[in-house]
Amino acid sequence: MNMSNSLVWFRRDLRAFDHAALHQALTSSNRVYCVFVYDCDILAALPRDDRRVRFIHASLASLDAELRRLGGYLIVRQGRPLEVIPALAAELGVDAVCVCADYEPDAVKRDARVNERLEADGRKLLSLKDHVVFEQDEVLTLAGGPFSVFTPYKNAWLKRLAAKPETLATWPVDQYAQAFAPPPGPPALPPLDELGFEPGEPPLPAGMEGAEALFERFVARVADYGRARDFPSGDGTSRLSVHLRFGTTSIRHLVRTAQQMALSGAGGSGASVWLSELIWRDFYSMILARNPQVTTQSFKPAFDALAWDSGAQAEERFAAWCAGRTGYPLVDAAMAQLNRTGFMHNRLRMITASFLTKDLGIDWRRGERYFALKLNDYDLASNNGGWQWAASTGCDAQPWFRIFNPVSQSQRFDAQGQFIRAWVPALAGLGAKEIHAPWLVPRDELARKGVVLGRDYPLPVVDHDEARKRTLERFAALKKGD
Ligand code: FAD
Repeated sequence: MNMSNSLVWFRRDLRAFDHAALHQALTSSNRVYCVFVYDCDILAALPRDDRRVRFIHASLASLDAELRRLGGYLIVRQGRPLEVIPALAAELGVDAVCVCADYEPDAVKRDARVNERLEADGRKLLSLKDHVVFEQDEVLTLAGGPFSVFTPYKNAWLKRLAAKPETLATWPVDQYAQAFAPPPGPPALPPLDELGFEPGEPPLPAGMEGAEALFERFVARVADYGRARDFPSGDGTSRLSVHLRFGTTSIRHLVRTAQQMALSGAGGSGASVWLSELIWRDFYSMILARNPQVTTQSFKPAFDALAWDSGAQAEERFAAWCAGRTGYPLVDAAMAQLNRTGFMHNRLRMITASFLTKDLGIDWRRGERYFALKLNDYDLASNNGGWQWAASTGCDAQPWFRIFNPVSQSQRFDAQGQFIRAWVPALAGLGAKEIHAPWLVPRDELARKGVVLGRDYPLPVVDHDEARKRTLERFAALKKGD
């Protein structure tokens, strides 16, 4: 296809290398413009110190700098994309707007409406796969249907990749850079306060260089990933989720490296375990794209009849969970980490989600929304998938009777209590044997270590064994159709 001028609209793909839409535009146009739109409706719903806005802001500066190095620049606008994009396309006289596909239901609707407006003006929206390795209809069962269980999906995903290794080919940008429209002046990105946000540092090094630095550091220790990934006090995982969320790194680049390291043996067994995690990301993206109703409904509709707790006591317990005041030290430490940094380790996401749904009996949707507000790496597909997995309402649900024990999980994955001590200072004086369940420690011994339960640290909001029984009853009632 030959387009004389085109506009690349950046959304969750904030990089200038291995980029499907940039590559398409540069190789088929004489002149290529680039834009990012701060969506005013989304910004209005966020707290003024939102860490993700800081991350995006810093990443746009890095993207603009790289585009300028290549001879182009980034236009940054604020408003509703539905109005801004068609108007800018007309102003610049472009024939097409190129984007990397976004599979979230609202984004799909938005893009369809932008496309309608562009078409009414004789232009088009060209949407390309970039965010995932395989889209929703590329990895199918032998009968041609979608998978709903991860392991067979993963096996089919790996088989398809082996059959189509070109899927991981890079979409080069720099060698076609002569097509970039040159900058009209020096960089002029709006500062955070002009957008109505408090200035501040991003929660982790942003932009392409931030992603690459993390990746290089992680690759050096990937061999140990299979063992180290489960321990929240260590440095066992990559921390690349925010970069994957905003596209400051390329999924093909990561998968290619993981695959090469796994095949060559250089990454030990860790590289293939890590590759599996990246496949989970594709899996949940596929589930959401095919089942947009999961944003508000259980993947398995029967579970929407579950009688979740409500009323004043449930509200109090929900507030305690959000604030990290449940009296279960590892749960509280995890929530403190989330509230203060916007990050939570995967093992702890599973434990806190299980605790909310199975110990407190609270609807997974409330926890899902809380995570959406707080997580730096919030991604609708992965968050929804993770929550429904933990609540046993989702695809690939583990048997509903699997309920995480918050104390034994703590003893196993934070055996020395390092993580708890780092995030719950009130318990810093407790030893490894006492810290996982302080209510079991004799009162005078606790007092000698400076802790009075109910004053310095809460008593447990529920008894796990009783809560477990209630959850089993809740699910059993559903099975019987009570
Ligand atoms: P690594 O262990 O280094 O994994 C590498 C990458 O693989 C991650 O960055 C991520 O992109 C992907 N990945 C890893 N595990 C999963 C998984 N279970 N599902 C999907 N992708 C995965 N991940 C998000 O990116 N955004 C979310 O909003 C999110 N919410 C979650 C909510 C719950 C209740 C649960 C149980 C999991 C959630 N996850 C989410 C998945 C996972 O916890 C994070 O991706 C991971 O903790 C990010 O840390 P990392 O980059 O160091 O991961």
